[in-house]
Amino acid sequence: MTPRFAARMARVEPNAIGELLALGADPAIISFGGGYPDPTLFPAEELEAVFSEIIRAPGGLAMQYAPSDGLPRLREQVASLMTADGTPCGAEDVLILQGSQQGLDFAAKMMVNPGDVIVTEDPTFLGARIAFDPSEPAYAAIPMDAEGMRMDILEEVLRETPHARMVYTIPEFQNPTGVTLSVERRRRLIELANAHDLIVLEDTPYRQIRFEGSHLPTLKSMDTEGRVIHLGSFSKVLVPGLRVGWAVASRPLLDKLKLLKVAADTQTSTLNMAAASLFLDRYDLSEHVAKLRAAYRRKKDVMLDAMRRHFPQEVSATDPDGGLFTWATFPDGFDATAFMRDVALPEARVAYVPGGSFFPVTERPNFARFNYSAQSEARIEEGIAALGAALKAHA
Ligand code: PMP
Repeated sequence: MTPRFAARMARVEPNAIGELLALGADPAIISFGGGYPDPTLFPAEELEAVFSEIIRAPGGLAMQYAPSDGLPRLREQVASLMTADGTPCGAEDVLILQGSQQGLDFAAKMMVNPGDVIVTEDPTFLGARIAFDPSEPAYAAIPMDAEGMRMDILEEVLRETPHARMVYTIPEFQNPTGVTLSVERRRRLIELANAHDLIVLEDTPYRQIRFEGSHLPTLKSMDTEGRVIHLGSFSKVLVPGLRVGWAVASRPLLDKLKLLKVAADTQTSTLNMAAASLFLDRYDLSEHVAKLRAAYRRKKDVMLDAMRRHFPQEVSATDPDGGLFTWATFPDGFDATAFMRDVALPEARVAYVPGGSFFPVTERPNFARFNYSAQSEARIEEGIAALGAALKAHA
């Protein structure tokens, strides 16, 4: 049988990068490819205690079905975390999601008709495009500089793009570039969204992993007309395997999101919501996050220092104020995909993510994303040294 797929499935296709990264799963390869947190920093003992306690909860509550918008206690706790972070909200403003990834899927389903334009940073998170694509959008990609998305260019593009529906941004320590959106540009983005009747999808999985610089207000806290859908996640501050994230949005948006949640999976796993909730009750999340920050900051410094010593001078890399990634720029004419396939993997035994697929409209070959959180400091030094030697040998 030849399946007669729905039209939207034309946009649901494997990408070449997935195949290339699968090669990086070989333990002999030092991979800077994935966006994985450091597993040695997972609070395993605490989670063991938490899971064993919730399993014994009276009436098997943690093993039972739960409300589709999330366990009430967890919604309260997320609202307190958000409020303490400068975005005042209550439990009723929070929808618990299966990771923030689910919020990307829902936002596109909710707001985007085929052919509508989603505006993104250029480059942007590949997983967001994978979530958006089944809604059959067109993309407009806005160049970035050291302060994030260029608002002057966004303004121009919006003037010529009547079908723009949503702007997607990762304001802190963006994936893949590590760049943070400045406060002035956050203000301008809200003004432009108001003027052009746009939804702003604010994706903040790295927000808490800040190494330095001042804490910036969320777009949600600046939202004057209820246009911002804020997504948060426990993946990077607790463990990604829990698959617990959340959305905070104004009533009309949240009401529809809740219905999409019922349609998609009824609810996030009760066990995992209960575990996140009891962890927050029993332990100090901010103390745990402080440990992560210190460790990732050290790793970031080790990677950038190694790049400076080992890479050819023409290669530059961003120095992020937080998060898990640095973004390397190679000279014009360099093809990061071909180099990974032909040299980095087979000779240097190192993987990274070639940058091309992060560009939604026009791929650019001479960039790569490097993750520094997953490998030990010694492996970072070893991998960057090997890659640097290979880059110089093949220059
Ligand atoms: N947004 C961004 C920018 C990400 O990098 C990721 C994961 N790497 C996600 C969303 C999804 O995170 P999760 O579903 O685990 O919360």
